[in-house]
Amino acid sequence: HDSNLIEDVKTRIRDVPDFPKPGILFKDVTPVLADPHLFGRVVNAMAAPFRGRHITKVVAVEARGFLLGAPIALALHTGFAPARKPGKLPYKSVMERYSLEYGEDGLQLHEDAVSRGDRVLIVDDLLATGGTASAAARLVSKLGGEVVGFSFLISLDFLPGRERLGSEKVCALLNY
Ligand code: AMP
Repeated sequence: HDSNLIEDVKTRIRDVPDFPKPGILFKDVTPVLADPHLFGRVVNAMAAPFRGRHITKVVAVEARGFLLGAPIALALHTGFAPARKPGKLPYKSVMERYSLEYGEDGLQLHEDAVSRGDRVLIVDDLLATGGTASAAARLVSKLGGEVVGFSFLISLDFLPGRERLGSEKVCALLNY
């Protein structure tokens, strides 16, 4: 158990006001990734709740999710699959749309990225409204995979993301 981790990470998350637009307080995780020891401890802690849960695949969300999801997949000895914005994946893909504050967006997975019976962990840097992660979960279900859980570095608990995904499935290192 890595007892000082939460404090150590908290001091290294950089708050950037009004990015990418006015009113958003952006949680910048790049200072955490820049520290090799801290990066390793974060990956280990985000993987830990899912050790022994027979995860077979990590699906992570473009783009910051990739940075955490790929090393978590290696830590859990699973495969990795990227969930990307529409038009980025080269092969045949499935698509789910989700609504944003203004307008809508989509997320895609290669149709062979997840197989029937796969036990999937979904990873991203931050959980806000849960729209992105729930679209990723629907993609996994569409391909016959089972969403075992979600691992985030940060959860904004004043927003409804956690309830929307099913609180029992959601793990986050930091809660704001
Ligand atoms: P949501 O779909 O509302 O849960 O938003 C989560 C997605 O948007 C994640 O991919 C995050 O990387 C990104 N995101 C949302 N809010 C923030 C924030 N305040 N700081 C950094 N990233 C954010």
